Amino acid sequence: VKWVYTFGDGKAEGSAGDRNLLGGKGANLAEMCSLGLPVPPGFTITSEVCSWFYEHERSYPDTLAKEVGQALEHIASVTGRTIGDSKKPLLVSVRSGSRASMPGMMDTVLNLGLNDETVEAIAQETGDPRFAYDSYRRFIQMYSDVVMGLDHSVFEEILEDAKANLGHDVDTALTADDWKNVVAQYKAKIEEELEEPFPQDPEQQLWGAIGAVFSSWMNARAVTYRRLHNIPESWGTAVSVQAMVFGNMGDKSATGVAFTRNPSTGEKKLYGEFLVNAQGEDVVAGIRTPQNITEEARIAAGSDKPSLEKIMPAAFAEFCAVSDKLEKHYTDMQDLEFTIENGKLWMLQTRSGKRTAKAALKIAVEMADEGLISRDEAVLRIEPASLDQLLHPTIDPKAKREVIGTGLPASPGAATGEIVFSSEDAEQLKSEGRKAILVRIETSPEDIHGMHAAEAILTTRGGMTSHAAVVARGMGKPCVSGAGALRVDYRNETLLAMGVTLKKGDIITIDGGIGQVLKGAVPMLQPELSGDFGKIMEWADGARRMKVRANAETPNDARTARSFGAEGIGLCRTEHMFFEGERIIAMREMILAESEKGRRAALDKLLPMQRADFIELFEIMHGLPVTIRLLDPPLHEFLPKTDEEIAEVAAAMKISSDKLRERTESLHEFNPMLGHRGCRLAISYPEIAEMQSRAIFEAAVEAAKLTGAPVELEIMVPLVGLRAELDFVKARIDAVAADVMKETEIKISYLVGTMIELPRAAIRANSIAEAAEFFSFGTNDLTQTTFGISRDDASSFLMTYQLKGIIEQDPFVSIDVDGVGELVKLAAEKGRATRPNIKLGICGEHGGDPASIHFCDQVGLDYVSCSPFRVPIARLAAAQASA
Ligand code: PEP
Ligand code: MG
Repeated sequence: VKWVYTFGDGKAEGSAGDRNLLGGKGANLAEMCSLGLPVPPGFTITSEVCSWFYEHERSYPDTLAKEVGQALEHIASVTGRTIGDSKKPLLVSVRSGSRASMPGMMDTVLNLGLNDETVEAIAQETGDPRFAYDSYRRFIQMYSDVVMGLDHSVFEEILEDAKANLGHDVDTALTADDWKNVVAQYKAKIEEELEEPFPQDPEQQLWGAIGAVFSSWMNARAVTYRRLHNIPESWGTAVSVQAMVFGNMGDKSATGVAFTRNPSTGEKKLYGEFLVNAQGEDVVAGIRTPQNITEEARIAAGSDKPSLEKIMPAAFAEFCAVSDKLEKHYTDMQDLEFTIENGKLWMLQTRSGKRTAKAALKIAVEMADEGLISRDEAVLRIEPASLDQLLHPTIDPKAKREVIGTGLPASPGAATGEIVFSSEDAEQLKSEGRKAILVRIETSPEDIHGMHAAEAILTTRGGMTSHAAVVARGMGKPCVSGAGALRVDYRNETLLAMGVTLKKGDIITIDGGIGQVLKGAVPMLQPELSGDFGKIMEWADGARRMKVRANAETPNDARTARSFGAEGIGLCRTEHMFFEGERIIAMREMILAESEKGRRAALDKLLPMQRADFIELFEIMHGLPVTIRLLDPPLHEFLPKTDEEIAEVAAAMKISSDKLRERTESLHEFNPMLGHRGCRLAISYPEIAEMQSRAIFEAAVEAAKLTGAPVELEIMVPLVGLRAELDFVKARIDAVAADVMKETEIKISYLVGTMIELPRAAIRANSIAEAAEFFSFGTNDLTQTTFGISRDDASSFLMTYQLKGIIEQDPFVSIDVDGVGELVKLAAEKGRATRPNIKLGICGEHGGDPASIHFCDQVGLDYVSCSPFRVPIARLAAAQASA
């Protein structure tokens, strides 16, 4: 086995295709080398070594040391430098790189190879002892933290004291001798704290750093990140070792990060930040505020710090050419890291850039229009779940804005919530169902869980590429970063903004689109669904096989569904039409009636309400298919509970409260989800199904008259397990249909079908299909009954299951392909065997989950139905499934 892959000098042993082995970073470094771009030479230790490392008590394969030695010779042959050499020492960086990008989650060591001797050689060679000793102290700081486990704050104290004694407030004011002093203090501190000296042997340093990077694969932040992003632990990380180039070698040196297009808006403009005389970590750490790369961006930002374009025009021009080349080569927006050492440009990283959903759409559409990618490819480029970001509100432009602070528009969207100053508080609020805005001076990878829990993030430090900004964009949360005029006081939990002191719990609104912090709650607007969004949707619609419908019962939901492009209603849960006002009383009367007579009286009250609702629904859907499900109430949801509710219903039924309470108690069920619900109710009380059928057919006649478009009507019987259940209910529906047609002398066409939501129904689907003209998979109940896990109680232990690795995904969120999916597949096959053109759809929550939608496409369902806000996600996911 080959454990180490080298790159440099226009050649590489690996390429972009070797991501799994070399990690994203190593693979792309190799690719950039082969493209002839300026990349410092180096080598990558494969992710297979990481697996070995963990399988063998953190040790290495026998031949690794030899391969690393040869790779170091390779670097020496390109650079003329050797690690530890007393004249021309080689310094290297040691970085992690996994298959999926995990920004900032794992460890990095820079300037490795410096010791008391090599630092002098570097000082001699560069004629810049200040630079040499600055690099040395950076190395000691980082190495002690990452490899030796010494908290970096001990060094910060030493440095702060040194600066205070010398009367300096910036690091760059320190001279070579000052740094020498600091280095001596650092080393003494290490001996004092760890009872061992800072290692002087560069080989020992290298193996220490390699081990630390592999170990960081299992650090708490990386583990959390992987869990949140579903990245398997087995992938492991690669380690890239690369000759150092120096952005901190003086005023002709710089380091920066850039995106080939704007990651926030998607605009086709190079966008990035840099610092003169600095090393990479200074840019992301947000300690110094970085400068814009282009003049245009500098002017737009109103910054008085000169752009790279202005101060290093030649390096800038080369960088523009490189960035263009890389974008065309990868046909995607790239996120680049570069260093300029004494005027010479070096590329340190390229990868597909993280972007907001809005930017993703714009970039995909424009790249298709530019001919860089096809339209089908553009559709595949959009993460369906990310559309969620665009389907949610923004601040109403007419709203009054009480601006209390401004910062960078780090991640778009708007959100209102209570101020919290810690990730723990953000999580606490979320668990109470409250909305939090996480306010921090800056965020670090330790804050990921709090950022997840918060509605939005506000930081007072850091640029567009700071941790907070990058992570928030990835999560699709609004973020304002670098709001420098605001003062955060963690101890007193206050935020000082324009002379006003806000406390923890005060309400603010964040507008991440323009970088504003507003006092209080502000009116929001529904999203804009045209433009790039509309185009991608149009291309997706052209590419998909399955139809997309919505689960909707109120006129409002039906209209939203239409505006999001739903092609009909796949599930109208009629019991949801009875939750409000007068209706709930009539509904309760009906449920609690002791005789058919009493029930019919209540049903007579319900009929006109139902009919009116259906007419409106049919009008809105204007000839599109509408699936109406007969009543399926878990009874307990409808029983009156409070004394007030009981009195109300008793009065309507003209009986005493006590009597009604008795009746309510007699209806108590131990397990209502498996109780007297679904078609069981229609079999006990056929008059309910008859009333509903009448309302449906009369409404269909009425709506057809009103709109001129006949309703494509589908009546659905819930919770069927036995063919005979369906036969029984269908006979009632057909009888009412015949009556209404006779009365109105209008022919109504309709289908009667059933939900497949019990394992028995799936197993007996061939027989059930003799009666059913369509199946709609109720995967909520099918999951509940297949697993024997109560839908309502699952959350209390499924999270534990996920944490302990028993299951990867909540089966109520994403379909359990192996179990529940197998039943769906079986039922679809059996249904088609009996009735070849049987209509098949899904209406459980899974109908809006992209992975489940892929599954539905595979088993050949005709449509998916989901909640209105998920309709665009489903349209896109269905298109991707067709590809
Ligand atoms: C289902 O069970 O999947 C379904 C859609 O019905 P409900 O959620 O109303 O039980
Ligand atoms: Mg159900």
